[in-house]
Amino acid sequence: MTQPTILWLRRELRLRDNAALLAAVASGRPVVPVFVLDEDTPGAWAPGGASRWWLHDSLASLAADLATRGAPLVLRRGLFADELPQLVAETDAAEIHAGIPTEPWAREAIARLTRTLSVPLHLHRTATLFGGEEIRTQAGGPYGVFTPFSRACRANLTPARPHAVPAQIAAAPAPPSDRLEDWGLLPTRPDWAAGLRENWTPGEDGARRTLAAFTKNAIASYDKTRNFPGRPGTSALSPYLAFGEISAATAWYAASLAGEGRGVEIWQNELLWREFSAHLLWHNPALPEAPLRPEYAAMPWRKDPAGLAAWQRGQTGIPIVDAGMRQLWHTGWMHNRVRMIVASFLVKHLLLPWQDGEKWFWDTLVDADLASNSAQWQWVAGCGADAAPYFRIFNPVLQGWKFDPEGDYVARWVPELAQLPPKERQAPWEAPDMLLRSAGVVLGTTYPHPLVDLAAGRARALAALETVTASKA
Ligand SMILES: Cc1cc2nc3c(=O)[nH]c(=O)nc-3n(C[C@H](O)[C@H](O)[C@H](O)COP(=O)(O)OP(=O)(O)OC[C@H]3O[C@@H](n4cnc5c(N)ncnc54)[C@H](O)[C@@H]3O)c2cc1C
Repeated sequence: MTQPTILWLRRELRLRDNAALLAAVASGRPVVPVFVLDEDTPGAWAPGGASRWWLHDSLASLAADLATRGAPLVLRRGLFADELPQLVAETDAAEIHAGIPTEPWAREAIARLTRTLSVPLHLHRTATLFGGEEIRTQAGGPYGVFTPFSRACRANLTPARPHAVPAQIAAAPAPPSDRLEDWGLLPTRPDWAAGLRENWTPGEDGARRTLAAFTKNAIASYDKTRNFPGRPGTSALSPYLAFGEISAATAWYAASLAGEGRGVEIWQNELLWREFSAHLLWHNPALPEAPLRPEYAAMPWRKDPAGLAAWQRGQTGIPIVDAGMRQLWHTGWMHNRVRMIVASFLVKHLLLPWQDGEKWFWDTLVDADLASNSAQWQWVAGCGADAAPYFRIFNPVLQGWKFDPEGDYVARWVPELAQLPPKERQAPWEAPDMLLRSAGVVLGTTYPHPLVDLAAGRARALAALETVTASKA
């Protein structure tokens, strides 16, 4: 009998435009599709609660898609280093095809595995448009600034065109598989995932429908609507991209087919921000933990567990911040503009370490992605590559007035302020007593007083920055 090939799926949970699947099928061998839940390799960033919820439904959807093609998905739990050799022995596989890992811990684990496996492990680019080594500066090094990076992407390379699903996947006899239900990926008591279920349909079909709706209805005006969290102006494709339920090339080409306007150009630029984050992580494996600008290690961060908890729960008394944090808790997602506002508030007005915010996002975002999350937190905290300077401090009230001018977003997520006029809704502590009374707002009772005076918080952050500047001098 022909020896099978193992198709090891990790973060490319799709059949369309999947280079690892195509190569496995092209080998002419029967295919054993496998997913290994490895939460134990040292240094692994185990998926957070929201990611585990997503992963459950995503694997269920993938397994169903594979089953219709006669190739059952095999589930195993354990270290990559143990499970893959075990599967090779059980199936007598001749080789393994998989996606190139992007997370530093997985890169290390897979490099070690390659040295010990008895069969070849072929790695294919599945997560991004470009490989980690493909885009180089003229001097041959990695990029640290987005604009030249994106120019190089656009000028030098044409992303590979997406491929269709192979017409047939010849399956091999399947080795024993775990049962997905036994992995405990879904929350039980309390079941906090109702809002996630209401808002998302994980899996390849959900991804395709989301992309199709966005390119049909919203991409043309993306340049004008993308900054307004109260309107449905962005694609909400991020969790599908993060889990590889749709390829970046499929998204890129669907946008190109939608037209040539400014909306398309700016949206594709966002896909390049995703590429840039992956590029930064590829070349800076410590990105999730340590500031890229080393002098920021000297930042005198505060310790304030109560302040951190208020931020996490959307109880800071700053309406747009609380709206964002409650949207995140309820839906597992937050609008990009508001991510920037809440992150800036945490690291500047509260002077709490960006890693605390990064970890909370990691646990609560359905689109949690190691590269984008850590690169963006470093960007906001001013310590990353091409970062927003730390001294530029968002005023959350002005941000609210500008990007939520009718106050719809705050009213949706902070309903206790919905009866205030739009202007006061962003800063209830400035509203006259009479107005507060008629809107049913009692500060300190129905809605918190601000956790920090915004001017004082700003001054404290700037003073802290002096320490960093002094340590560099
Ligand atoms: C502090 C902070 C943390 C973040 N953490 C994550 C994360 O863990 N995972 C994640 O996918 N994005 C993260 N982002 C980036 C961005 O907020 C989300 O990608 C975006 O809000 C997703 O919504 P969308 O799919 O509607 O985006 P769209 O506006 O429709 O953009 C299309 C796609 O481009 C990519 N993209 C857009 N903006 C960015 C960006 N600034 N950086 C990198 N990629 C981008 C995403 O894949 C997104 O789906 C973070 C941003 C901030 C400020």
